[in-house]
Amino acid sequence: MIRVVLATRNPHKVAELGRILVDVPVELVSGVDVALPEVEETGDTFTDNALLKARMCAAATGSPAIADDSGLVVDALGGDPGVRSARFAGEHGDDEANLLLVLERLGAETNRSGRFVCVAALATPDGHEVTETGTMQGVIAEAPRGAGGFGYDPIFIATGQQRTNAELTPAEKDAISHRGAAFRALRPHLLELAAVDRGRQGGGPSANAALR
Ligand code: IMP
Repeated sequence: MIRVVLATRNPHKVAELGRILVDVPVELVSGVDVALPEVEETGDTFTDNALLKARMCAAATGSPAIADDSGLVVDALGGDPGVRSARFAGEHGDDEANLLLVLERLGAETNRSGRFVCVAALATPDGHEVTETGTMQGVIAEAPRGAGGFGYDPIFIATGQQRTNAELTPAEKDAISHRGAAFRALRPHLLELAAVDRGRQGGGPSANAALR
């Protein structure tokens, strides 16, 4: 079975991705099991950062690698916190300081629309790449509510919900999350990668044919 590396050490992400990709016939290993390179997220976009991480991880491990980058985009803040979501209020993201800064910057602004965005990237060691984007549309609450989730969840109310993300159950959030959408969209590429690899075992085309 082809080995695919998840470029993350975050056990919550590993578990979530494991659930989404459970029936994909690839051997998933993560930063919990293998040494990953330190990658600085220097890109200006979620796509740049996801590709950067997947590429470096594929090069370092010699296996196809999956990475993601995500964050909160608030329209009235010109797209902030965006790619700086984890460090909006300073390095090494304090979730509470970050979300309070969003509320402070928004003040009494009536346009509170925004979205969580996640880009999932798959890269092979010899440079073939594909990305998929997932979004969760919603509005920024007036004040934080709820004890679940992480990051900006206490101030985000997804479209169609009355509760903030931090008041949803994990299963409710998984079903509508930007990360879930991005990784579900990556599934066909992984299935194709696995199929091509099986073909290659029998003398078929390169596994890279799965990544167009
Ligand atoms: P990363 O993709 O792990 O680098 O996450 C970037 C940052 O975006 C996190 O530290 C959170 O602040 C924010 N973020 C991403 N996804 C979510 C989410 O599902 N809920 C709340 N905050 C999120």
